[in-house]
Amino acid sequence: METQYTIPSELKSAIDGKCPRCRTGNMFAGPLFSFKSKKMLDRCPACDLKFEKEPGYFYVAMYVSYALSVGELIAACVGTYLLTGNLENPWLYVIVALAVTLIMAPFNNRYSRIILLYWMTPMFRFNPKIYAQIKEEGK
Ligand SMILES: [Zn+2]
Repeated sequence: METQYTIPSELKSAIDGKCPRCRTGNMFAGPLFSFKSKKMLDRCPACDLKFEKEPGYFYVAMYVSYALSVGELIAACVGTYLLTGNLENPWLYVIVALAVTLIMAPFNNRYSRIILLYWMTPMFRFNPKIYAQIKEEGK
């Protein structure tokens, strides 16, 4: 039997917030910049994978989120320096750092969990059999 679908790449599935096991079901209830963006589904709607594999598992995502924030703040402050050449007024950097923190919060919340589930949780590998099964059932 011939397969009539192409499996989406790992990176594209991660960016789209798809389930790490079947790459079909959504991990989040709404799109990135919406009021429901923080709401994460308990289970994959396509393959029924439980995303929070043990209680408190997403506390680990805080460390990923911390690393993302530090990277963004360094980039924002270096960018501000390169654009303005400001070495006199520290409040400019404080304001930029606060703005970046607030604007990037939904992004960090979502992608820290996605990075955790995709690349730091070995038991959540992509399973082509489950993907094929979902496609054949036409979900
Ligand atoms: Zn799934």
